[in-house]
Amino acid sequence: MVVGGGIAGASVACELAAHGSVALVEQEPQLAHHTTGRSAAVFAESYEAPEVRALTRAARGGFALAAEEAGTPILTPRPTLLIAGPEECGALQALAASDAALRALDAQEALELCPVLRPKRLAGAAIDAAAQDIDVLALHQHFVRVGRSRGLEVRASSRLTTARRVGDAWVLTVGGETLHAALVVDAAGAWADDVAQRCGVTPLGMRPLRRTAVVARTAGTLVDPAWPFVMDVADRFYFRPEGPHVLCSPEDETPSPPCDARPEETDVALILDRVNAATNLGLRSVVSAWAGLRTFSPDRLPVVGRDVGVPGFVWLVGQGGFGIMTAPAMARLGAAAVLGAEPFDPALAARLSPARFTGP
Ligand SMILES: Cc1cc2nc3c(=O)[nH]c(=O)nc-3n(C[C@H](O)[C@H](O)[C@H](O)COP(=O)(O)OP(=O)(O)OC[C@H]3O[C@@H](n4cnc5c(N)ncnc54)[C@H](O)[C@@H]3O)c2cc1C
Repeated sequence: MVVGGGIAGASVACELAAHGSVALVEQEPQLAHHTTGRSAAVFAESYEAPEVRALTRAARGGFALAAEEAGTPILTPRPTLLIAGPEECGALQALAASDAALRALDAQEALELCPVLRPKRLAGAAIDAAAQDIDVLALHQHFVRVGRSRGLEVRASSRLTTARRVGDAWVLTVGGETLHAALVVDAAGAWADDVAQRCGVTPLGMRPLRRTAVVARTAGTLVDPAWPFVMDVADRFYFRPEGPHVLCSPEDETPSPPCDARPEETDVALILDRVNAATNLGLRSVVSAWAGLRTFSPDRLPVVGRDVGVPGFVWLVGQGGFGIMTAPAMARLGAAAVLGAEPFDPALAARLSPARFTGP
């Protein structure tokens, strides 16, 4: 039984359905209602810690396969442009020098790619030219469709409320029904620790952090769909074209209990101020705003593998701000943990194991 119908649960359930009888259970009436449905949809091999980058690189093949099977492109090119003011220029140069996916640019080159940046605020830049936009919905639907074709049972409006071990199996209450399973995969996003506790498993200390996203109208400036995804190297904001408008975020990380996250007015105002300070876009009014919970483990790396204390419990959690771009690779590691198979990268699998928090 896979608990959680976001990208993590759908992708691992699809993998596992090729090997046995699998149910995917989701508490909401709609799959992908929570964080998966609220992302900025970026694929960038230069993003985050080396372990995350290794996962993203390993996920590329999965994206290609999904696009081929779905008969629709799932990744489309959109370079990521990292920009720095005078104070952060040194840090950005060091980052570009340490990461093969990044190439340093001067301010003029950055302005050619995105002419609405204010030259006075721009001291340096770096580009990840291989970054892509992700069609998140198409990827998620692909996993569910292929999973179903392999016999996957999908249960929406089905919340896991209780679970106990009886012999070497689980007896679970899901949506009020009693179900049996040999194994439970916790892919519950912000609820990862809640699901673990319901299964009698020691929580890992997962931290859901709220992030706000806004689609805003410019004050008449025409938005060029070819602009890159522009990201401030000091994590104060990012933006990219969204049709005739601009999608942006103040890159906030506000601790939150697991919930249906909503944007705060102050965060919405903050993002308009920050983008307006760095660009000539003159963002004034909000077309739509939302928030989602990016959930991190204590060391901010994802957690995938069998629990050390309770048999038959597998973690697939802590996907933070990279859960879509890494999903095909995380699903393969999760499936290997369930099946007791050799992971595609044993050293990476060991690094991401829950044993790093709970082991001897
Ligand atoms: C603003 C924003 C921008 C982002 N941008 C990017 C990006 O550009 N690229 C990227 O790769 N990632 C990005 N992310 C991160 C990405 O969206 C997440 O890492 C990913 O969606 C996590 O997927 P998940 O399946 O673990 O969680 P979720 O999608 O939240 O799924 C977990 C599911 O578990 C269900 N559940 C919980 N408890 C139970 C229970 N007891 N019983 C049954 N079901 C239960 C929940 O209802 C939920 O649907 C972004 C996130 C945000 C908020």
